[in-house]
This record gives sequence, structure tokens and C-alpha cells, in this order.
Amino acid sequence: MKVSVLRIGHRLVRDDRITTHAALVSRALGSDKIYMTEVDHSINETLEEIAKRWGGKYDFAIEIIEDWRKVIKDWKKEGGKVVLLTMYGINIDDRINQLRKEDRVLVIIGAEKVPREIYDLADYNIAIGNQPHSEIAALAIFLDRIFSGKELKKDFRGAKLKIIPMVKGKMVKEMENNV
Ligand code: SAM
Repeated sequence: MKVSVLRIGHRLVRDDRITTHAALVSRALGSDKIYMTEVDHSINETLEEIAKRWGGKYDFAIEIIEDWRKVIKDWKKEGGKVVLLTMYGINIDDRINQLRKEDRVLVIIGAEKVPREIYDLADYNIAIGNQPHSEIAALAIFLDRIFSGKELKKDFRGAKLKIIPMVKGKMVKEMENNV
């Protein structure tokens, strides 16, 4: 299954770190792309640097967009499904079996309150519990549920550095051929 992320909104300066985290979590937990509105273009360099060191250069992309309505409409026109993560939606556990059967999912997270029309544009309004929390936490749990935890063992090709998991301490191996 292919999962892309659409993040709507960004509160200038205040959200810089959260925005970077939305991209990092999308990449690390198995999504192939994040569309973002209103962000500083330096986020592209940050993610390029991460991919150079830790791999997956061709597995993940960031696209800075102006028109999120067009992204949603094009996605649907091409047969993909749209999921809005919202505390007002249906609990993920009550829709996960259905969601796992979809081929392509665009998952939308908000930096704050999202425009009302998105609730109607989305095919699924999904809650990661019905309490308010964070778009990063909601996204991480959504990706983990949809990929059944398998994304945590994903191999990122072309890495310069690879972590050798240790019971204690840190070990990082430099890869000779970036494989
Ligand atoms: N009260 C706000 C609302 O109207 O959704 C919460 C905004 S919250 C700071 C930012 C984003 O986090 C939301 O747009 C939504 O995508 C996500 N979010 C927060 N809590 C969530 C939950 N329980 N389930 C799913 N998504 C959640």
C-alpha cells in the first residue's frame, strides 16, 4: 500500500520544529511523500541531508504546495482514498481492516483546526482516540496501525551510515558502497 501525507497549515516560526517532525515521521514510518503548505523551503535541505546520511533518497519526497484542494481532488480522481485524522472521527480500530484494503491513501493532518470542507472531502474521518493531542502522534499511530508495525524494520537503501542495534551504547557503521 502507498501512503502519502498532506499537512495543512503552519503557524510561522512556532511550528518550524513540528513541521520538520511531521516530515521525519512520515519518512521514517513508511510513507512515500509529504505535501506541505506554507512552509520554509529549507525543509527540503534538511530532509536531503537526512537521506544522504541515513538512506532512502528515492523512497521519500517533500512537495511544497499552494493548493491543497487540488492535491485532494487529483488524488481522488486517480482512484486514491483520503483520510482526515481528527479527534471527531471514527476510532481507527473500527476502520482499520477496511483501511488496510485500500491501495493508495492520502492522510491529512492539520497544524491547527482544518477547514470544515475537508471533513466532507475525506473518504474517512479517523480518530486516534477522541481526545485532543498532536498531529505528529496521530500520524505516527496511524502509520504504525496501517502498516501493522512492519514499517519499523524498513530498509533505507543507499545509506552512508547504518545503526547496529546495541543493548547498551551506540554503534554506527559507515557503509562503503552506500547500500
Ligand atoms: N481541536 C483541534 C481540531 O479541531 O482537530 C485539534 C487540532 S490539533 C493541534 C492539530 C491536528 O492534530 C488536527 O488537525 C488533527 O489532524 C490532529 N489530531 C489531534 N488530535 C487527534 C486525535 N485524537 N485523532 C486524530 N487526529 C488528531
